Amino acid sequence: MQNVLQQLIRLQELDTRLDALIEKLGDLPETVKTLEIQIRNEQEQNAIRRTSIEENAALISSNSVKVEDLKTKITKYKEQLFLVTTNREYDALTSEIEFNEQGIKDAEDQILQSEEENNRMNEAFGKTEKNLEDMAQRLEETRGSLAETQKATEEEKQQLEDTRKTLIALIPRNFMSVYQRVRKARNGLAVVPLMRDACSGCHNRVIPQKRVDIYKKNQVITCDYCGRFLFAADDSEEDE
Ligand SMILES: [Zn+2]
Repeated sequence: MQNVLQQLIRLQELDTRLDALIEKLGDLPETVKTLEIQIRNEQEQNAIRRTSIEENAALISSNSVKVEDLKTKITKYKEQLFLVTTNREYDALTSEIEFNEQGIKDAEDQILQSEEENNRMNEAFGKTEKNLEDMAQRLEETRGSLAETQKATEEEKQQLEDTRKTLIALIPRNFMSVYQRVRKARNGLAVVPLMRDACSGCHNRVIPQKRVDIYKKNQVITCDYCGRFLFAADDSEEDE
């Protein structure tokens, strides 16, 4: 049992150090992820804008052709007006001219609308492109810092992980599962020393019988309150 406790203490030391190494990376990994998502979203937005801009441009172009066609027709009708002999023919041509004039007006309105839309869209597109440049730069910098920090800690991390692997192979499964559960639930700390007769994890007093057992070191004791494994720290005297 003494052996298991020593192993659990050692495991906690390794995990605490590994946590510290991960902590060292800070929010760099998260920042990289967030920036990547933001960049993808903005790129998608601009791809949509680009399609709309192209569609509007096509609409402007087809409406311009339409205006020219209608103008030609109107000119032709106006010439024919001089040749008509009956009121009926005159009225028919006049209403045809009016109809085509309305067509020109509609097409021109549409052109104006498409142009306004494209002005807005181009402005947004440009802003987003500028924003994308900034974000890409920030992403590159953050990735650089992350890689640098990772490189600095890589060797130590690898050593710790290797040692950890060897160690957990020795620890009985039931203790490992308690360790993992408590560590997850208790902020990464599953093995703590007894300090001034209390669990140094949750600061609750440990009952005398348990304290005796902890000092005897012949069984693995857990805190009644937080479930952490308890051990007698060398520097913690039973000062009662
Ligand atoms: Zn406790």
